[in-house]
This record gives sequence, C-alpha cells and structure tokens, in this order.
Amino acid sequence: MSATNLLDFDLDGLTNWFANQGEKPFRARQVARWIHQAGVSRFDDMSDLAKSLREKLNRLAVVEPPRMLSEQIASDGTRKWLLDVGSKNGVETVFIPETNRGTLCISSQVGCALDCSFCSTGKQGFNRNLSVAEIIGQLWWANHTLTSDSSDERPITNVVMMGMGEPLANYQNLIPALRLMLDDHAWGLSRRRVTVSTSGLVPAMDQLREDCPVALAVSLHAPNDALRNELVPINRKYPLAQLMAACQRYLDRAPRDFITFEYIMLAGINDQPAHARELIELVRDVPCKFNLIPFNPFPGSDYRRSTAETVQRFQSLLTTAGLVATIRKTRGDDIDAACGQLAGRVQDKTRRTVHKLEKVA
Ligand code: SAH
Ligand code: SF4
Repeated sequence: MSATNLLDFDLDGLTNWFANQGEKPFRARQVARWIHQAGVSRFDDMSDLAKSLREKLNRLAVVEPPRMLSEQIASDGTRKWLLDVGSKNGVETVFIPETNRGTLCISSQVGCALDCSFCSTGKQGFNRNLSVAEIIGQLWWANHTLTSDSSDERPITNVVMMGMGEPLANYQNLIPALRLMLDDHAWGLSRRRVTVSTSGLVPAMDQLREDCPVALAVSLHAPNDALRNELVPINRKYPLAQLMAACQRYLDRAPRDFITFEYIMLAGINDQPAHARELIELVRDVPCKFNLIPFNPFPGSDYRRSTAETVQRFQSLLTTAGLVATIRKTRGDDIDAACGQLAGRVQDKTRRTVHKLEKVA
C-alpha cells in the first residue's frame, strides 16, 4: 500500500483519515497546523505528537508537495517556480510582491482545454487536473521558500487562482484546496483574499457560491457574444446573458460586493470606443470592477497589445460611465511571469477541440 499524502486532505478529510486510524479529531487539527502553518513536512519534527503516533504516521503517510524544477527571479522581485507534476509535465506558480501585500498566483491544471485564442496555456492543450496536494502544495512550497529566504513571516497575503488552467473545470480538487486556504487551522486567509478566476463556467459558479464563496474574477474580454465566441469559446455554451445572471446570483454570497471583470486589451479587436459603450450596457445590472489587462504576447500569438493611449481611452470611457476600472501593471516581464504567459511544460496533451468543452463544463 502506498503512503497517503496528507496534503491531499482538507480538515474534514484529514479528520476522517485520522478517525480511520483510530485517532481523535484534534490530532487532525494539530497535524494540519504543523503542515500548513509551521511548514513542517517531517512527522519527526512535529514535536508535540506522541512518539507512537509519529511512528504510525511515518509508516502510513507523507507530506509531499510537488518538487521544484526551476526558479526564476525577475528584476521587480516577482518569482516564478516550475513545479514537477510528473510525466515530464510542469506547472508554474508566481509570487508577486507589492508594498502591502504578497500575491501568489496558483495553477489548477496541466494545460487547459478551453482554448481561449489569446492564451498561451490554452494553446498547449490539456493534459490533466492537478490534485489537491499539487494545488495546495504550490502554496506550501512558495511559503516554504519565501520564509526561508527572508525574515518576513507571512509573505503571502493573497492567493489568486489565475495560473495555468481553468480552476472551475477542476472543481472537485479546487474546493478542498480553497477550504485549506481559508481554514483557521491551515492558512487562515480571509475569503476576500482568495480569488478564483474563471472564463465563465456557469453551473460551477453557482456551485462555488454554495460550497465556498470566495472572491470571484470573471474573464470577460468581449462585450458581445459574437466576439466572445471567438476569444473565449466556452461562451458558445454559456453565453453572456447567462454569465451576467450567474454573476448577479454569485453576489448574494460573495465576500465582496462586486465581481471583478478581467478584460484583456487586444489591439483593434476589443479595444475600441464602441466596445467600451457596449460593455457599459452589458454590465449595467452587475456591481463590478474592471481590470484591464494589457495583452502579453507569447511565441506564435497573433494578437498585439493595445497602445497605452488606447487602454487609457477605454478606461476613461468606463470611468465616465461610473464604473471602476484599473489597468493591470505587468509584472515579472523579464521572466515571462505575466498573466497568460505561464507555459510550464505540457506533454502528451489530448487533442484540443471544442468538443472537449462538453466534457469539462
Ligand atoms: N482559466 C482562468 C484562470 C487562468 S487565466 C481564466 O481564464 O480566468 C488568468 C487570466 O489571464 C485570465 O483573465 C486570462 O484571460 C488572462 N490571460 C490569458 N492569456 C493572456 C495573455 N496572453 N495576456 C494577458 N492575459 C492573459
Ligand atoms: Fe484556459 Fe483561462 Fe487560458 Fe482560457 S484564459 S485557455 S480558460 S487558462
């Protein structure tokens, strides 16, 4: 029997596992605090556990985050790690330090099946979902590395599920990972500081609202169905009217009173004043904030980044209409760590077709 990786469990899962070994629930909480708060992976270092329990754990379990294959540090302090997820595959995790916070951008899948036309991850196709251990292991690993490099005890204050993959297409593993991020016996982050970014899987958005309503970012990118069908093909399955209604429903339970709409600025494609006007109409009934993202090119991409003037003109049209719109700063440019540039290593991918969307959604 192979050892159980305890990083695969949220507190409920861990409590069950301990119960199956004839151990009390408080042991699960104790071990969770060692793993997720103290960053300890060896049971022998969990000093307040009885020796007999440590021996049992050594026999039955491991705490095993993904292995780090490489690390890059950009001139602005952004750090990117490539983590080994087996079969020659790698996923990327990015840490973005800012004055008052540190944000970790986590991957949820090896590749992505949703095939958005401007996305480097999507262009690689889909290989598989990450396990709970591989998702939460990115946080474990980043925290471990960052705390051993500096005196800052809590370098990571925010988590965004904006790395490789569509988090809501890996729902089963996403939820325990999110619960660990929020649990006071694990990471203890507030719901407002954990953000799931989605291209708009409507049923899963409704489910998230019930199961674990964290902050939500929706990758909108287009103000009408014709254009969004082209840029974000999942729109053919869940068109804008359905997506807007799901955003409104989500707000009943959301930790913030707005949805963040991400809008990538593609020169000549979706950045014209007419698009801004259409967008203002579209979101009329959804309390929201816009994050305008300069397109980050990657080898083989056909799009161009909108000019700074075009982005500013677009922003001012939105703000004049009473919307909040910020322009995302690109970080980690010199190490390709910006949004949409996370390529990792995806081997043995399955074929990328829109049919696949039927399966993931
Ligand atoms: N699958 C999820 C989360 C991962 S992508 C989603 O699509 O929301 C995270 C963000 O990066 C999304 O808003 C996505 O649209 C954006 N993105 C993808 N490719 C990009 C690129 N080349 N330049 C800038 N942003 C990009
Ligand atoms: Fe997948 Fe998000 Fe990239 Fe679209 S933008 S292909 S949903 S990772």
